[in-house]
Amino acid sequence: MSQLKAILNYQTMDAKLYELEKVLAESEERKTYVKLQKFLKGAPERLDSLEVKAQALRAEADALAAQYAQAEATLGEFDNLEEMIKGGADIGFYKKEAQKVVDRLKKIRADINALTANIKATDEEYQKLKKQVISAQKQYEDAANKYKELKESKAGERGEIEKELKAISKEIPAEMLAKYQTKRKEKMFPIVGALNFGRCWFCGMEPPIAAQSRLSAGIECDNCHRVIYKED
Ligand SMILES: [Zn+2]
Repeated sequence: MSQLKAILNYQTMDAKLYELEKVLAESEERKTYVKLQKFLKGAPERLDSLEVKAQALRAEADALAAQYAQAEATLGEFDNLEEMIKGGADIGFYKKEAQKVVDRLKKIRADINALTANIKATDEEYQKLKKQVISAQKQYEDAANKYKELKESKAGERGEIEKELKAISKEIPAEMLAKYQTKRKEKMFPIVGALNFGRCWFCGMEPPIAAQSRLSAGIECDNCHRVIYKED
């Protein structure tokens, strides 16, 4: 029980550290800093992909422009239609063919217009993002400093708690402490708790009968993996 008592003491002190870390993690200073950091980290890839998209759209527009020129040239061949008719050509057939080319030209023109609008929108998105990056870069240093200041303002308190924790930890077997620290790193807190009406205080699971004799020294809950114990 004395080892358990030591780890419980440790946890009580550690709760203060946990709270302090929570205050830092949930602070506006950190939120702003992390948001900017995340944005700036992802921005180059987003800019690149917009650039690639714009390039692909431009290439597509160029290809369509070439198709348009070709169709226009084809239409030019119908200029000497009168001569062809005089030569005995079937006017109905050529009219139909010419109409097909005209329809095709209309279709290509519409596609080019849609592409042009898309290119414009992509360019605008790129410019907007670029402006946002510049603005974020300006804010980033300030946000980093503010978060650093906040952390520094808590450094004294943190140091005191850590000193106390170190003193208490001397009474805890290394293996037990290591196990505790591992769970702590997984953001589990609290880690140790007394049984509540014979069940795990955290998840409500009933410890197996075979473990009953070891409960006063504390066992790991099979379900939530926290340390549970029975109070004497
Ligand atoms: Zn449990």
